[in-house]
Amino acid sequence: MSGGSLLKVLGLTINYYTLEGVVKAVRNASLCVNRGESICIVGESGSGKSTLGLAISLSLPRNAVAEGSIIYEGVDLLKLNPLERQKYRGEISMVFQDPATTFSPLFTIGEHLIDILRHRFRVSRDEAVVRARELLRKVQLPDQDRVLRAYPHELSGGMLQRAAIAAALATDPKVLVADEPTTMLDVTTQSQILELIKVLKRELDLTLLFITHNLGIASEVCNRTAVMYAGVIVEEGSTDEVLLNPLHPYTAKLVKAVPSLTKRRERLSHIPGMLPDLRNPPAGCPFAERCEFTTHYFDYSPVKHVEAGPGRRVACILYSGVKA
Ligand code: ATP
Ligand code: MG
Repeated sequence: MSGGSLLKVLGLTINYYTLEGVVKAVRNASLCVNRGESICIVGESGSGKSTLGLAISLSLPRNAVAEGSIIYEGVDLLKLNPLERQKYRGEISMVFQDPATTFSPLFTIGEHLIDILRHRFRVSRDEAVVRARELLRKVQLPDQDRVLRAYPHELSGGMLQRAAIAAALATDPKVLVADEPTTMLDVTTQSQILELIKVLKRELDLTLLFITHNLGIASEVCNRTAVMYAGVIVEEGSTDEVLLNPLHPYTAKLVKAVPSLTKRRERLSHIPGMLPDLRNPPAGCPFAERCEFTTHYFDYSPVKHVEAGPGRRVACILYSGVKA
């Protein structure tokens, strides 16, 4: 069943503590995800997409500190004790860009899946084998017994990503966070995996959080899109509106950088400049240094999010009523 808010990220801030300083990877992010919807997080490399996904799936590394709230079915995930976290970790699963990171090279795919299933559902080994076979069938891997016996290096990239998706589904999650799951695959395999994710989302009634740097992929998979830049969600709306009528100058540039979304003969653009140093991000608009609308009189105070229509938000000085 679809509808109703399932997940609410409120004022989320995530800092990584490193020897070189504190990296402010996510800053004051808020996002509402409805049950059964597909939402895309898009942005260039280093914008904080994976960090947000890791926080939602309770998988942040130890050097990360998260503040704010991640409310899942009324429970703040950031306030759970370690035992409670275990339960919720299975409800929100993550698929990574590199499927090899899901599996230890020392164990077969079967050993991994059986381990997850026995741990999660306390079933016998035989029962776990039956369920593991079924999971591999769900991700459309043929010859399931051979795959169960295979070590990760014995599978092709596409097969391994399917097995990684099976591992993510093994805990029977309600939310699937897919972090650039096709980036490392060849073009044909990419579209097969995208198709598989869409089918699984529908069949298993999953809520999908799809992370990508490619707005073209966002348009294929997700009904809603949130755009991240330098740790800040700068724009949010239905994918169609974000693509056809981007409000934030950064989104507009992203749209122009996707071949299939620009009109034929129109020149593709790249975005000159670099992300700010996240150890010392600007207090005002993070995109100001690269934005064509920045003027001499630019106000460097923090930019507020503005409601720009139903389900449509933007954080840009052009819409905040503050004169630039
Ligand atoms: P990409 O598209 O390259 O995957 P991303 O949008 O997923 O990028 P993140 O991986 O979330 O971005 O990184 C956001 C910032 O946090 C970057 O500056 C990155 O260097 C930093 N970062 C990520 N992981 C860690 C970590 N474990 N320790 C310290 N800094 C980190
Ligand atoms: Mg990432």
